[in-house]
Amino acid sequence: MEYEAVIGLETHVQLRTHSKMWCACANEFGADPNTRVCPVCLGLPGVLPVANEEALELTVLTGYLLNCAIPGFAKFDRKNYFYPDSAKNYQVTQYDKPSTQGGYVDFEFQGAVARVRITRAHLEEDVGKSTHFDRHSGVDFNRAGVPLLEIVSEPDITSAEMAYEYLNALKDILSYGKISDCDMEKGMVRCDVNVSVRPKGEKALGAKIEIKNMNSFSGVRRALDYEIPRQIGIVSKGGRLTQETRRWDDVAGITEPMRTKEDAHDYRYFPEPDLMPFTPQADWLERVKARVVELPLARKQRYMTSFQLPASDAEVFKNDVPLGDFFSRAAAGASNPKGVANWVINNLRARLAETGATPADVRFAPTHVQELVELVDSGKISSRIAQEVFNEMYASGDAPARIVEQKGLAQVSDTGAIEKFCDEVIAANPKSAEDFRAGKAAALNFLKGQVMKASKGKANPGVVGEILERKLKAS
Ligand code: ADP
Ligand code: MG
Ligand code: ZN
Repeated sequence: MEYEAVIGLETHVQLRTHSKMWCACANEFGADPNTRVCPVCLGLPGVLPVANEEALELTVLTGYLLNCAIPGFAKFDRKNYFYPDSAKNYQVTQYDKPSTQGGYVDFEFQGAVARVRITRAHLEEDVGKSTHFDRHSGVDFNRAGVPLLEIVSEPDITSAEMAYEYLNALKDILSYGKISDCDMEKGMVRCDVNVSVRPKGEKALGAKIEIKNMNSFSGVRRALDYEIPRQIGIVSKGGRLTQETRRWDDVAGITEPMRTKEDAHDYRYFPEPDLMPFTPQADWLERVKARVVELPLARKQRYMTSFQLPASDAEVFKNDVPLGDFFSRAAAGASNPKGVANWVINNLRARLAETGATPADVRFAPTHVQELVELVDSGKISSRIAQEVFNEMYASGDAPARIVEQKGLAQVSDTGAIEKFCDEVIAANPKSAEDFRAGKAAALNFLKGQVMKASKGKANPGVVGEILERKLKAS
């Protein structure tokens, strides 16, 4: 019998805010332990939380970017549990009335557009971080109270590779929206992986195994590459799986049992009494809507349809937003947008990388790239000279036409001038001329090169070829 995997991901993302969720402490990674704390985020008795409005905006903005509905009524709840990294003994989260509900993420997967539905994205708070030393453990509460978004997917993912691509797409969307810095190394994105298997064609879901707290996307992929065959191995031999939580051991490359999964009622969820429900009004929602940006996939598709770029170029502009924006302005109305893309990707991007500059630092106007392409396409300058013009444009910010004129770089198509160069070159290279007449085609290229050199690269190579051939055959 054939089996298939069913995967749902719960992705935790730290929001990019200045301060924490309920207090004025800095939301900042890397400070000395317990230096970004106050009575509120330490959970001392008698303190009251005040909601961070920017975190609420980023939550709703995420909802829009993930095509979710934004309910008019949301609230916060306490999820009660004991753990040393949570001084309050509860985590504030959104249980039955989250701020966003029912969306989807579209992304490219195996040459098509795949869709994973989003159950919800709800706002909660991060907890402290435990570090275990040889003989003791320490807790750093700098992270406690950092706004955290939990994005829950429907179990629509069917393979390790698809999980990996979904996570990358999600990260791109969150980066585009400036929702989160998504720095995995700083723990800004963490993921719980839920996976079960079932006979192909079966509708009912199998027993869910949850793999906790993965902190890299490649780790998620490797954990699934291990876990799916493990589960299939058990059920295909007639074994039974029961719901449990497992831990991924990144070094050993295996998952191992951690605990049997607790149920929601174990957490004694109840409405947070110290916070008002969240009931966004129309004008507030409009303000958030104004922050909606074009999604990465839409952007890539726009480059392919509006500018007829190949997928590989569109991908570059999807991944490098400032460069893509520069290109959009450079290619607006261009007759040869691919030519413009070539200059932006092959030349400008390399130049910027060399100097650590950004498109904002570029001295020439974006449309100058389009003008440069037109100078080449119309035969006004050769592509070799164009390189020189580009370098000059980059250095001075001058318009290409001006540079060509000032430096006398215009291509010579004037046959009189070229004839003269050709006569000189033929006279100076009788052996090559002889070789050509004897049928050695390569000799023509050599002579052509000599003419180009004599003209300092300004002769029109097509015209040079024609004139040379005519003269050689005639003599
Ligand atoms: P819990 O209440 O245990 O947190 P949820 O129903 O909230 O479980 O689902 C948590 C995540 O697990 C979601 O991403 C969901 O898509 C996924 N999921 C639920 N059931 C299964 C299953 N049988 N197999 C794989 N993933 C599942
Ligand atoms: Mg859950
Ligand atoms: Zn604080």
